[in-house]
Amino acid sequence: MPSIFSKIILREIPAHIVYEDDQVIAFLDISQATKGHTLVVPKVEYKDIFEVPEKTSSRVFEVATKLAKAIQKAFGAHAMNILSNNGEYAGQTVFHFHIHLIPRYDKADENLFKLKNNQGNLTPDEYKERARLIKEALS
Ligand code: AMP
Repeated sequence: MPSIFSKIILREIPAHIVYEDDQVIAFLDISQATKGHTLVVPKVEYKDIFEVPEKTSSRVFEVATKLAKAIQKAFGAHAMNILSNNGEYAGQTVFHFHIHLIPRYDKADENLFKLKNNQGNLTPDEYKERARLIKEALS
């Protein structure tokens, strides 16, 4: 079954589209977590970052960069979270790869995406081993 985003791409359901080219579409997130909250989505439906080809995600990030600047200009947002949830445990709810552009306006919002800091719990060898495993997986 096509994702809700594919239905938007096919104009089967409405959305406030702000950008479109042959590969990428962007529209307002219906939740409007903040003013101008926008989703950037490849037109070909890939479930998540693990499936999307690097060429496609590069193009999505290129458009996201352009849109971040446009949102800054449109609303005077001088802070922005760029976020992509991938997989159920990461909070993904629509399984069609996408990037959230979430402009920030209020100092009270600044800690919303604060990550846990585990620095004190790790030895230098554990850092070394984690980096080694990632580099090994890349080759
Ligand atoms: P995620 O939870 O990261 O997968 O993000 C999915 C996002 O899609 C949520 O922020 C929803 O608010 C948004 N969303 C769901 N349906 C629609 C829709 N019809 N139009 C625009 N945004 C939508």
